[in-house]
Amino acid sequence: MKLLSIRGISDCPAIGKIICIGQNYAKHAREMNFDIPKAPIFFLKPPSAVIFNHEQIVLPSISSDVHHEVELTVLIGTGGKNISRETALQHVAGYGVGLDMTMRDIQLEAKKNGLPWTLAKGFDTSAPLSEFVPAQMIGDPSLLGLELTIGGSLRQSGSTSDMIFPVASLIASISQYMTFETGDVIFTGTPEGVAQVHHGDKLDACLKSADGSALTSISVTVA
Ligand code: MG
Repeated sequence: MKLLSIRGISDCPAIGKIICIGQNYAKHAREMNFDIPKAPIFFLKPPSAVIFNHEQIVLPSISSDVHHEVELTVLIGTGGKNISRETALQHVAGYGVGLDMTMRDIQLEAKKNGLPWTLAKGFDTSAPLSEFVPAQMIGDPSLLGLELTIGGSLRQSGSTSDMIFPVASLIASISQYMTFETGDVIFTGTPEGVAQVHHGDKLDACLKSADGSALTSISVTVA
């Protein structure tokens, strides 16, 4: 059982289900030649996919094109069902940064054949997660910056203000179908700039406040 880490809090929950959102930034949907979604696209990763700071991503041998996707992550503190958009952010315990590692070749093949993305998105080490920052220290999650560097060079830089479906709307939508429980995590989608990673790469992902200061970060290497 993996325990999550929330800054300044000793009694952290075990990780629950991981719900991920696809194509939540228009520029990323366009770079993939995907349509802009009219409703949120959901998929799941298993909790066993999670790794933490300073751990290693292991590239599965069946793929020759594993991509990075830097994303705002949302930790649910208070569970619930049919949560309203107005009260949604009260269910959040913290915000962090994560990497939705994706076997792009396997995903595109699945997409072409109308098959699930589960393997492409849920393999071991596909969900690096940072320490979470308590929600009350963040306030508005739509004014945050996301950044990913590889070997020190900037690869992805985005703002959560560009999300097609903002955090409160995602929580409301998901909770119509899946009951949220303490320890559940949402990956909220990636801005543009996704690309392949290679053996030996060092990935540094950072969540930034509106004024550009670092809130939390994660550093992982590709084995
Ligand atoms: Mg993603």
